[in-house]
Amino acid sequence: MSTRCRGVCGAVLVPADSAAGVALPTGVRRKKARGLCGACYMASWRREDLAEHAVQQRPRDDVLDDWLVLRGEGLSLRQAAARLGMSFEAFERAFYRARGDGDERALPPLVSEVRCA
Ligand SMILES: [Zn+2]
Repeated sequence: MSTRCRGVCGAVLVPADSAAGVALPTGVRRKKARGLCGACYMASWRREDLAEHAVQQRPRDDVLDDWLVLRGEGLSLRQAAARLGMSFEAFERAFYRARGDGDERALPPLVSEVRCA
């Protein structure tokens, strides 16, 4: 799933934590917030018109329904977040909030997160 920056650049956005420290191809930028890349976010902040870009939130119901499918495919939380085009932080927050509220769809991943040494 790819989304485009809602600012003037129109770049394809990838999650903020993807390919950290690696240069992205032309026309691809990391997502900052509010559906904007970092450059457009900062430009909007300087113009003081950030309020024109609504905060993007996926309804928790959608996130959890998607999680059940991706969990069944054996994806980790981090992989699921990337698949959904969400930052890991946003996905993790929604997941643990749902768990805290006793939502039975907030099941732990079938695989443990693979970590690099
Ligand atoms: Zn942009």
